Amino acid sequence: MIIFRKVFQLQDWIKARRNEGLHIGFVPTMGALHQGHISLTEGSKDECDITIVSIFVNPRQFNDPQDLIKYPRPIENDLHLLLKNEIDVLFLPEVEEIYPADQKLNLDFDPGLLGSVMEGKFRPGHFAGVAEVMYRLLTIIEPDRLYMGQKDFQQVAIVKKLIADQHLQARLIMCPTLREPNGLAMSSRNLRLSPQARIDAALIYATLTESQKSFENDIPIEEIKQRAMETLTRKDFKPEYFSIVDGTTLADIGNKKDSRFVVACCAVSVEGVRLIDNLIWTKNE
Ligand code: AMP
Repeated sequence: MIIFRKVFQLQDWIKARRNEGLHIGFVPTMGALHQGHISLTEGSKDECDITIVSIFVNPRQFNDPQDLIKYPRPIENDLHLLLKNEIDVLFLPEVEEIYPADQKLNLDFDPGLLGSVMEGKFRPGHFAGVAEVMYRLLTIIEPDRLYMGQKDFQQVAIVKKLIADQHLQARLIMCPTLREPNGLAMSSRNLRLSPQARIDAALIYATLTESQKSFENDIPIEEIKQRAMETLTRKDFKPEYFSIVDGTTLADIGNKKDSRFVVACCAVSVEGVRLIDNLIWTKNE
């Protein structure tokens, strides 16, 4: 595995590979890697000639400074995992490499409703930071394919719009959420949970699946949401939202017939650690 810390070195290397006619897959991450991240690299390795993983804890997407400070950074483990999985390239830039003091990003992007609901409402500024870093990374690497997780469903919707609006070439592939055996979505943030909370947090997935049954049984949407919020209100649990939205527009749906692509998304603070999850309930294939 080659590790690049400098943009110009990475770009020189990519240019040479492109001249050889090779296709590039890209997996952006913030490190503290787990099998969920590795599943994205597997998609890339299956479909592309070269797989590039980036590890960059993007300061601009943290609306809460404490969250940024506490974000886990087990770089030795990450390197080990990437080597074991035979990743071609790791891009490991410093903040100044991504946001040089003498360069303005000049990104003119408005995600509209996609950026103002759910995470956008509870984490002001978060998606502006995500859009900035993704724009920067995508214009540096110019991958053929970009692999992102359904775990961050709203982020995928916004990056898809970013790619379309900015006429970037990457094709975005959304990969399924990998879960712990108890159903808890794998997340770097799980490292900050106590062992008991990691067990208890299975309640989030259980609530998503139970609520899906209610949806299939025609229980009114508002009632499903209210019940879910009640279920998720426990000792050490504080739900922020439980939304039932159209998977394309992310607009709330009022009843079942409003959409053929229904997704339930939620955010719950467990022991003060913010966890998000979602489940696609119906999909218009
Ligand atoms: P992060 O390091 O949290 O920014 O995540 C980097 C990428 O990995 C994002 O595209 C995430 O959606 C994806 N990801 C995170 N957790 C999972 C998971 N449990 N299963 C699949 N993909 C995931």
